[in-house]
Amino acid sequence: MGHLDGKIALITGASRGIGRAVALSLAQAGAHIVLTARTEADLQQLAGEITALGVQALAAVSDLTQAADVARVQQQVQDTFGQVDILVNNAGVGKYGTIDQVSVEEYDWMMNTNMRSTFLCTKAFLPAMLERRAGHVVFVGSVAGLRGLPNEAVYCASKHAQYGFATALDHEVRDRGVKVSYIAPGGVHTYFAFGTGRNPDDPKLQEFLDAEDVAEAVLFAVTQPPKGRIFLIGMRPMREAL
Ligand code: NAP
Repeated sequence: MGHLDGKIALITGASRGIGRAVALSLAQAGAHIVLTARTEADLQQLAGEITALGVQALAAVSDLTQAADVARVQQQVQDTFGQVDILVNNAGVGKYGTIDQVSVEEYDWMMNTNMRSTFLCTKAFLPAMLERRAGHVVFVGSVAGLRGLPNEAVYCASKHAQYGFATALDHEVRDRGVKVSYIAPGGVHTYFAFGTGRNPDDPKLQEFLDAEDVAEAVLFAVTQPPKGRIFLIGMRPMREAL
């Protein structure tokens, strides 16, 4: 018996990195998993790994910045599972650099992927949670959502936006039975920002947190007793100062 037996969890940005690790972790705890991202081959591969664990997986290929794609995922979930109990808003992108190095297109790319997808997915799956008076919306935010950091102005803006959204949402839904959690990691060794400011060969990546560390925090947040909730988990690698 797992803590999440029979629950349905939808993970955004599940094709790699933190989202992939969260999907596996929640599946190991017994949840059926809806995997969303744009890269079909990676989602199908992960769906196979998840079904081998004895739970169901639905690979829903989607660009989550697009309202039509989110609506299609909503329909696929309705047809396959009927509901989502845990929504993990994880999909995200970033580019490092001073403000003069960030184009208008890159601003839209970060804000749309990090915040618009969060808005669209929450808007799609929260109402049914409120009707059932049960559910959990998790944000894989960042320490960049809690403070400004150099060379990350737009990324910080997008992650602060998610944090404001999450805190406001907690006020709206807490007394209607739905929990909200914001996970705020520092550096995590994934594919994040490869080609847009991080170098895969940088030895410093080895000292970052692993995706599985963040997945463990998500699992901890979603397995709290019914009368308690964890709103904020801050995580930093030992190499990073506060
Ligand atoms: P990653 O390895 O690059 O994974 C990013 C995920 O987002 C991929 O699955 C990608 O899938 C998905 N994605 C990007 N654009 C998308 C779109 N338009 N529609 C659907 N999915 C999309 O990065 P990661 O480190 O795991 O990042 C996950 C989250 O953690 C992000 O929100 C990030 O801000 C946050 N975070 C990361 C770190 C870090 O140091 N790595 C630290 C703190 C917080 P496709 O490309 O297949 O669509």
